[in-house]
Amino acid sequence: MLKKNDPRSLRPATRMVHGGTMRSGFGETSEALFLTQGFVYPSAEAAEARFKGDEPGFIYSRYGNPTTRMFEERMIALEGAEDARATASGMAAVAAALQCQVRAGDHILSSRALFGSCRYVIETVLGRAGVTSTFVDGRDLDQWRAAVRPETRVFFMETPTNPTLEVIDIAAVAEIAHAAGATLVVDNVFATPMLQKPLELGADVVIYSATKHIDGQGRCLGGVILSNQDWIDRNLHEFFRHTGPSLSPFNAWTLLKGLETLPLRVEKQTANAARLADHLAGSDKVGRVLYPGRADHPDAAVIAKQMTGGSTLLAFELDGGKEAAFRFSNALEVIKISNNLGDAKSLITHPATTTHKNLTSEVRAELGITDGMLRLSAGIEDTADLLDDVETALAAI
Ligand SMILES: *Cc1c(COP(=O)(O)O)cnc(C)c1O
Repeated sequence: MLKKNDPRSLRPATRMVHGGTMRSGFGETSEALFLTQGFVYPSAEAAEARFKGDEPGFIYSRYGNPTTRMFEERMIALEGAEDARATASGMAAVAAALQCQVRAGDHILSSRALFGSCRYVIETVLGRAGVTSTFVDGRDLDQWRAAVRPETRVFFMETPTNPTLEVIDIAAVAEIAHAAGATLVVDNVFATPMLQKPLELGADVVIYSATKHIDGQGRCLGGVILSNQDWIDRNLHEFFRHTGPSLSPFNAWTLLKGLETLPLRVEKQTANAARLADHLAGSDKVGRVLYPGRADHPDAAVIAKQMTGGSTLLAFELDGGKEAAFRFSNALEVIKISNNLGDAKSLITHPATTTHKNLTSEVRAELGITDGMLRLSAGIEDTADLLDDVETALAAI
């Protein structure tokens, strides 16, 4: 029989190594990879009992799988949630977490600085199904309050935001959401579970793209939705079983191994990002540096209240616009040009021509995404090599 650790008494780094482990009779050290679609039953009576929910056990991997469940349990232990469902990608998590709780006529209230696909899901996919939406400047609490309607069901936000690393006060927005009878869903990808705990701050649902820091080694896509038992049972359980956004057991296994080193990687990445931010801020070729760990960050007071560290990401503006940004990027050798983030490898992207190119220039200006802005995701390389790389690139502008 499979045996499960009780991770609740352990500290986070220990939970990330042992949490959720279910060992088979072979006593394997590493988590077993159950590449199976289905499960066999000892008798027809046993199958009936399992389908009725009278007996525990797996039925079909779209519903649940032992390896996938180990990943969910480890995430539950990390986040302090009551239950979770792992998804095939971060976007599958966002889409399922929103779609499972709204119907035609409902209204979603969201912060405006969002990962592009999240905005598409809210505006276009759910819009087609008769769900309306309003986007506000997430840092302005009055805008949230003013936009509430009687039919507002869900508040959605991403904090820190991509790419300008604005930080929204989760506890304050949760209070407004709950007063309106709505649920707050937080996309916590940029903060990682190591630096910010939205459920403790009053959020009802947290989603991750596990593709980012949780894998953190550029291998596979994945996502997860975490909440309390009641929300999962009432909104997500049946929706998830029948619409099938389930994570593959192979990817769940990869992500389990990723979680073992998550605390180490995020610590090193955050330290590297902080050094890079300070270094860039000292250059006369750099205008603004946006880094949640710096005292000059516009949202420093909220950051001090709700985050336990800066970020593994930073954004900065080069004087000289797109031309300077491209010259800088092309001169880098260690830091790679890529729109991914949270990876062991340091990655840089020019949001205006890549991740945010579909926005009009007016919307980009409103979000503070200028042509000279670059977003850097710090990896785990030696700090000195990253600083040398940036220094060479600054000289090349
Ligand atoms: C990457 C990302 C997503 C989507 O995740 P995928 O795994 O790529 O589907 C959603 N939100 C944020 C903030 C992201 O960075």
